[in-house]
Amino acid sequence: MKKHISKETLISRFENKLSKNEKEWVSKHLKECSKCAIALKKVGSLIELMRNDDSADAPENSIQLAKNIFEPNADSKKGFVKRILATMQMHLSPLQPSFNERGSKPSMRQTLYQAGENSLDIRVSGEEDSYKLDGQILGTGFVNAQITLSRKENEYVTTTNELSEFVFNKLGPGNYDLKVTKGSLEILLRNLEIE
Ligand SMILES: [Zn+2]
Repeated sequence: MKKHISKETLISRFENKLSKNEKEWVSKHLKECSKCAIALKKVGSLIELMRNDDSADAPENSIQLAKNIFEPNADSKKGFVKRILATMQMHLSPLQPSFNERGSKPSMRQTLYQAGENSLDIRVSGEEDSYKLDGQILGTGFVNAQITLSRKENEYVTTTNELSEFVFNKLGPGNYDLKVTKGSLEILLRNLEIE
């Protein structure tokens, strides 16, 4: 079995700290491995995000945060549920606008929420009555976390992948509550506006 690129190596690549040999190996591997290519994109966008954020104590924090994305599950203590309310931390400007066949502009919004030691990266895209929600939990221990999205009597459930990412498709507009459940930890994001 081939070895995947470590998170440290991915981060080093952005800091231009790789040797010539490492660089060659990494470039070759990235062409063949979509998993690592996706991981690289995540690390890149996060580092860029933190570098552009004047309020953060970058670069130390950004690198620690980037490393945290890929940490394995933390053990959960059974018996009680710790509930954290997520609050909006940063509103990121819309991403590159793109146009569909009809010439209308679909909306795309990215917002970062803070929940204790963790952050939630939420991207909402789409138009009219069909929206897509892309999310990622930044922090340790959220692989295979249960994500519940609810609005009135509608409830949608999914599970995060190995990068703590999740996605909901074909959502109607409205205010949703998003709940992240992992072990004894619950993160609640109330009144997430999808429009
Ligand atoms: Zn790989």
